[in-house]
Amino acid sequence: RDIPDTRPKRVLLAAPRGYCAGVDRAVIAVEKALERFGAPVYVRKQIVHNVHVVSTLEKRGAIFVDEVDDVPEGAHIVFSAHGVSPAVVQGAAARGLDAIDATCPLVTKVHREATRFARDDYEILLIGHRGHEEVEGTMGHAPERTTLVNSPADVATIEVRNPDHLVWLSQTTLSVDETMETVRLLRERFPALQDPPSDDICYATQNRQVAIKKVAEQAELVIVVGSANSSNTVRLVDVALENGARAAYRVDYASEIQQEWLDGVATVGVSSGASVPEVLVQEVLDDLADAGYRDVESVVTAEEDLMFSLPRELRRDADGNP
Ligand code: SF4
Repeated sequence: RDIPDTRPKRVLLAAPRGYCAGVDRAVIAVEKALERFGAPVYVRKQIVHNVHVVSTLEKRGAIFVDEVDDVPEGAHIVFSAHGVSPAVVQGAAARGLDAIDATCPLVTKVHREATRFARDDYEILLIGHRGHEEVEGTMGHAPERTTLVNSPADVATIEVRNPDHLVWLSQTTLSVDETMETVRLLRERFPALQDPPSDDICYATQNRQVAIKKVAEQAELVIVVGSANSSNTVRLVDVALENGARAAYRVDYASEIQQEWLDGVATVGVSSGASVPEVLVQEVLDDLADAGYRDVESVVTAEEDLMFSLPRELRRDADGNP
């Protein structure tokens, strides 16, 4: 006979979670552009990688496009938080577009590093995911000098011209542990490999991974709210699985939680990616409460108070004065 599970049901809620400073700024940039210029405002790529945020802005008059060529001449266009290559900026200017650059300042920092190392004759090994918009934007700042390291498995096969003049940079939203392992392997092959001047994996990505690790040590199931194309969200699922959770799932919405995930689970961990509005987490907590998980305990591993000022194009008043 089955012994009934009498353990108390509870939720461990990771903190920090959800919106980072770069996402907050990018979403507000589109809202402000809509207020100031009226609809439509065009946005190149998803402003942040979250289906709910994108559909909410679409309802308010934002039009998401793949490339600047898809935008009517003279229109307003916002570049997404993930950043763009100089070629995209030039393409927008050539079409006479009024561009608002919502690139996260922490991505811009990596762009500057890439430009400077390329100017100083370095070859850059960029650790990141092939096809991700941020990687395309960063590579575009030093296209002749950058080699993508897409996974630890790439390390054995990449080719460089001068192994004594190499530096690694990375995408901002990777797994810290996996990236350090990739760097270790790279350094085995290229002992003279230089480190970047400061961390490229951003504070928000790191903080969310530290918090989910602590949660995953105590939770049988972890639910991470966020979209499938959100790199930092997907990494949170990986990190939870590597740090003790028996199961970890990503959901865009609470309605995607499957009843059987909760079978035999006393402690559920919850977190969300850096592009996820808190309302979506609250809906998950509401559904978990309905399933008996009413006791919610925060697991706080850091406090965040970073804020970025708006893109400079939006800091000017309507007459163009700063
Ligand atoms: Fe910026 Fe990091 Fe947020 Fe990306 S995840 S927008 S790099 S703060």
